[in-house]
Amino acid sequence: MIIIVNSKANKEEIKGLINYIESNDIKVKATVGVNHTILGLVGDTVKLDIDAINTFPAVESVKRVQEPYKLVNRKFHELDTIVNVGGELIGGGNFKVIAGPCSVESREQILEVAKGVKESGATILRGGAFKPRSSPYAFQGLEATGLELLEIAKKEYDMPIVTEIMSEEDLPLFENVDMIQVGARNMQNFRLLKALGRVDKPILLKRGLANTIDEWLMSAEYIMAGGNENVVLCERGIRTYESATRNTLDLSAIPVVKKKSHLPIIVDPSHAVGIASLVEPMALAAVASGADGLIIEVHNNPQKALCDGAQSLTIEQFNTLSKKISKIHDIMKTL
Ligand code: PEP
Ligand code: MN
Repeated sequence: MIIIVNSKANKEEIKGLINYIESNDIKVKATVGVNHTILGLVGDTVKLDIDAINTFPAVESVKRVQEPYKLVNRKFHELDTIVNVGGELIGGGNFKVIAGPCSVESREQILEVAKGVKESGATILRGGAFKPRSSPYAFQGLEATGLELLEIAKKEYDMPIVTEIMSEEDLPLFENVDMIQVGARNMQNFRLLKALGRVDKPILLKRGLANTIDEWLMSAEYIMAGGNENVVLCERGIRTYESATRNTLDLSAIPVVKKKSHLPIIVDPSHAVGIASLVEPMALAAVASGADGLIIEVHNNPQKALCDGAQSLTIEQFNTLSKKISKIHDIMKTL
């Protein structure tokens, strides 16, 4: 962190500022120039409050030179983190495809989709039981019953399951869930993130609709700061002025995150584009961009889906896509 000292500040004011910083166990190196004095702060500045520093009259401006996140930062953890989801590894060269319906709708539906995606090569099953819908009148998910049905599919097809949580109050219901998803709308629900930091299960943290990569990494930091190191990030498209697609898939987030963090990152092309015919090109592009996996919405009858039918692939379409994903992934391994 660097502080430019206000040129009108007197000695007392500068001393007050330095005392405050040093009381936080941080060393101050002053460089006195002709017009400006610059203070270089050396030490663990992650916990320093920039707003508090800005209140000192001696401060002209403050700039962080170190990222505000530590546990997710690759600088402090050089090797890729590998997350184990019920025996399926994600990250560090382990690529996984997660697939399933947007929502669990019935026993028949989840079993049929689970069978179809497993036979096509997906190794983790998705399915929403608690659905964050824009309209309170839209289908809200089968909730506890949905989780029970998902568990039946897990046992029947021997696949780990991932499903979204909307409130920490529901955590006891997630006992048999292998990976807990934090949806885009809850990326900055800090109470929920703190609760998930105390959980001994992998977390799939989706990027918020309008959040920067650094804000997303800070949310992952919340979970890790609570003691849970098993976090997988998921890029699912962000809001832009473009309306041809549901969101805009930020594929550059993959190499950016890989540079900044050791955590695995997967891509959700379904919510990014919102249109089934566009899922395939974006899924393949995500593999080519270095993603550690994909999460794709698949339905046995997209026309009748209670949620996100327009972006859901049929089992047959998913099967075709799966083969192409394997081919691109094989090429990527040889590069
Ligand atoms: C979902 O996975 O069904 C979902 C609601 O995703 P997102 O939070 O990315 O919109
Ligand atoms: Mn969905």
